Amino acid sequence: MIDEKKLEELKRQALTQIKEARDEKSLETARVKYLGRKGELTQILKSIAKLPPELKPLIGRLANQLKRELEEAFKEAQAELKKRREEHLPGVDLTLPGRPYPLGRLHPITQVMQEICEIFLRMGFSIASGPEVELDYYNFEALNIPEDHPARDMQATFYFAPKVLLRTHTSPIQIRTMESEKPPLRIIAPGKVYRCDSDVTHTPMFHQVEGLMVDEDVSFADLKGILTIFAQETFGSETKVRFRPSYFPFTEPSVEMDISCVICGGEGCRVCGQTGWLEILGAGMVHPNVFRAVGYDPQKWVGFAFGLGVERITMLKFGIDDIRLFYENHLRFLEQF
Ligand SMILES: [Zn+2]
Repeated sequence: MIDEKKLEELKRQALTQIKEARDEKSLETARVKYLGRKGELTQILKSIAKLPPELKPLIGRLANQLKRELEEAFKEAQAELKKRREEHLPGVDLTLPGRPYPLGRLHPITQVMQEICEIFLRMGFSIASGPEVELDYYNFEALNIPEDHPARDMQATFYFAPKVLLRTHTSPIQIRTMESEKPPLRIIAPGKVYRCDSDVTHTPMFHQVEGLMVDEDVSFADLKGILTIFAQETFGSETKVRFRPSYFPFTEPSVEMDISCVICGGEGCRVCGQTGWLEILGAGMVHPNVFRAVGYDPQKWVGFAFGLGVERITMLKFGIDDIRLFYENHLRFLEQF
């Protein structure tokens, strides 16, 4: 039987539950419990019709008044919860899905440079580095390229001052490493180099990887073996190599290494100039004058050194025919790697 007392009790319960609701979900649960289609107060309102006529007006009025009170209380509690949430995180809607950020990727030059270094790290080489702004002494003189040497003309140099320049190759790192470390040593030195040059195959800044191995019994066979492994790991195990005599002031004897053309496999094509071969690096046995410059005894120590252009290797590996694409930074180009 519904009476004033029962309505009073229902009101107390409902208001307590509203007050204690800590989030919108428990508040909604409470609302459904009292005001939902099958809620307790809704049921009461439906049953008023069955009450004895003398009770109907009073209970009806009280029950409808309670309904309005509870509706008001829910609305207030809802507003309070919303306000509290916004004070905590103003303007943040925690129900929004997360925003995806596209992942970047490594520049093809960086990728290939890392790959090259990994191949040599596996063969016991460690990584060395040196400054890009270099002294004439390290870039030329200690590498057996004295001031009047014609080889200086081969490398169009950016100068800051008569004896201060942007390094034209990574070879000064050889000198700096040998000055500070005792042999035996095995280093690989990746880095940027600079020459005053620009066309489809040259950019004023490019990357080289330099290698140096010094020990008491290093031979030309070691040079050939290690560089052959490098070529086959980079361009595939079917790759053939050949060594041609060459000249560099800091090595004697000097060679250039060719690989069988990655495009035609040796048949002859436009890329290899119908020869079937592609030049990929220069190397040689360290010149005794270089050892003398760093205080190593050339009677005791022998070694080989090599240097390669990372852009050239990358162009051959991916079939790119214009070096400038690497530095124009068009996303359509870079996203292919
Ligand atoms: Zn070819």
